[in-house]
Amino acid sequence: MTQETTTTKAHPTLLSPLRVGKHELRNRVIMGSMHTRLESEPDAIAKQAAFYGERARGEAALIITGGFSPNDAGLLDPHAPRLDDAAEALELKPICDAVHAEGSLICAQVLHTGRYAKIEDCVAPSAIRAPINRFTPRAMTGDEIHQTIADFAQASVNAQAAGFDGVEIMASEGYLLNEFTVNHTNKRTDEWGGSVENRHRFPIEVVRAVRAACGPDFMIIYRISAADLIEDGAPTEEIISLAQAIEAAGADMLNTGIGWHEARVPTIAYQVPRGAWRSAPANIKQAVSIPVVASNRINTPDLAEDILASGDADLISMARPMLADPHFMRKTREGRADRINTCIACNQACLDFIFSERLASCLVNPRACHETEFRDTPTDSPKRIAVVGGGAAGMAAAAEASRLGHIVTLFETASELGGQLNLARAAPGKGEFDELLRYFRNQLKDGEVELRLGHAANTDDLSGFDHVVIATGVTPRIPDIPGISHASVARYDEILSGARDAGETVLVLGAGGIGFDVAEFLVTPAGADTDTATFFATWNVDPSFTAAGGVMGDPLMPLPGGRKVTLLQRKTTKPGKGLGVSTGWILRNALRKHGVQTMAGVSYDQIDDAGLHITIDGESQILDADTIVLCTGQEPVRDLYTALRESGVGTTMIGGAEEASELDAMRAIDEGVRLAQSF
Ligand code: NAP
Ligand code: SF4
Repeated sequence: MTQETTTTKAHPTLLSPLRVGKHELRNRVIMGSMHTRLESEPDAIAKQAAFYGERARGEAALIITGGFSPNDAGLLDPHAPRLDDAAEALELKPICDAVHAEGSLICAQVLHTGRYAKIEDCVAPSAIRAPINRFTPRAMTGDEIHQTIADFAQASVNAQAAGFDGVEIMASEGYLLNEFTVNHTNKRTDEWGGSVENRHRFPIEVVRAVRAACGPDFMIIYRISAADLIEDGAPTEEIISLAQAIEAAGADMLNTGIGWHEARVPTIAYQVPRGAWRSAPANIKQAVSIPVVASNRINTPDLAEDILASGDADLISMARPMLADPHFMRKTREGRADRINTCIACNQACLDFIFSERLASCLVNPRACHETEFRDTPTDSPKRIAVVGGGAAGMAAAAEASRLGHIVTLFETASELGGQLNLARAAPGKGEFDELLRYFRNQLKDGEVELRLGHAANTDDLSGFDHVVIATGVTPRIPDIPGISHASVARYDEILSGARDAGETVLVLGAGGIGFDVAEFLVTPAGADTDTATFFATWNVDPSFTAAGGVMGDPLMPLPGGRKVTLLQRKTTKPGKGLGVSTGWILRNALRKHGVQTMAGVSYDQIDDAGLHITIDGESQILDADTIVLCTGQEPVRDLYTALRESGVGTTMIGGAEEASELDAMRAIDEGVRLAQSF
């Protein structure tokens, strides 16, 4: 039996083709739309062609681009991409050609951002400001609505002329068309508001206009909100009647979105269990005959197969997993699903970069959106490389160097690979790091990297190599507080590894990323991060999605108390200020829901049998604690580097050993891969 036959057996539905109108999709995976900011780069078209072309080569059946505005008012920000100029749209043709050359299809997303537009003159059904935008929109006039319908049609015509196979009309996530469908944002009393028919009229007219303008063969995908996750959002019966009307208006496919951007329920971050939202598209699929697409937190071929095989959806949309591994579907087809670099839903290098106006990339795959900067061709002068340290930086360097043909030996003092990743994986939702460890282990195996585990490398071990990479990482910082050796004090690694039990009353010193992770670890019941029913109960989501908006009450409602945890910091700033934009709010709210207290502007005076003595606002206090957990940063481990430099061996230091402060897996992997590319 060939490997391919075996795989088709493992993922038969996922790998089966699907006809949509005149188009044939070679499998059931769509690369979902994502903003990347590639369009603002020098050589933007060539870079986008390389980016999307690689995902097509990796066998994503259909690619949907980031959103293009149909007009001025719909722009996400003044520099966002647009499709309203026919001549400019034609410049996108090389992107379509690159995707078609690899046998995939490509659709342009047409996105009017409505009241989420970061522009002063933004528009919406009614003049109600979004909680995530500082600009208050203006209510659209009837004429503006008619003009916008025409603009959607013209943008689609422009996309068609450039070579796109179709468009996705973006009508979920709380953007303009979604805003018209619900009472929460639509208070109009004219023909575009009030009754369900009136609220649905605008999106339906958009689909009709695009179909009329682009003809029967042009693919129209409509992205419908399958669960708004806001107060006064659409109940299931309204979502279903909209889906049916959109089908009747001429759409070929319904993609689904979950949650408005302003929703206070996490929808895609690592805190959301895999596949949590699968029953939302299932409700729609039962009511229409066109294909329905499931999305959000689907990151493995097994889960995708299960959703398809159980009939919850006809196709799977993956956006971030295609950043993490553009060859996701090719590896699945070849029976090498265990070689997929899995998206860990951290949002650190994709969404957080976009929100801070940086080019998107990926924590586990620094090549994403930088395709033209990396080479794949093996070296013609293989070097003998030693990598010391088997954490994220060391594994990334060793894997990439061996992939490029170098002969690599990896030394690690511990008996297993992983370094800090082995601790990070204990935090709620961060079990996804196991996938990264599995990926690196297989990469090292494929690259025939010699592993010297449980061995502390010394200068003699390293003398015969052409180059030595020092990735010896970090060690927890022990702050200089009187009584720091008291029995109640524990390091964060002792708590996360399970070596120490924290007891019922816990003080966490240091409110950085690790302090927050440790606090969440201490208050989250085991398994709650992977169990959908518990996740829904935690955030007040209606598991049947029949309640208006899919929520049953305030998502931020406090939860029953457990351990008493207090998170302290010396700075006077708001604790958690430095956390990621797209995940920090979830962490802060989760801790608040669990009753975790925070204290800022604290000085630590002493630790003794009475507890932690602090001064805050000029007053002394003693805080009682079973355990005081140190999350007070890290110090680099560099002894070997210093010794090697003295011996004259070519040496480079990367990761936490090089710079311990602000170290995270993203920088570690990026440094490791880029260094290996330079050999
Ligand atoms: P960190 O973010 O630097 O936080 C450590 C905190 O300890 C500092 O904010 C500091 O706050 C305190 N501290 C430093 N020196 C101290 C001392 N001598 N005595 C007492 N307190 C001291 O480091 P981390 O939390 O260890 O995280 C390491 C890296 O991993 C960071 O880059 C972080 O972003 C990343 N990470 C991120 C996440 C996430 O985003 N979810 C999760 C885990 C890790 P004060 O001085 O104000 O007390
Ligand atoms: Fe996924 Fe994180 Fe990469 Fe974004 S940065 S694609 S969330 S692994």
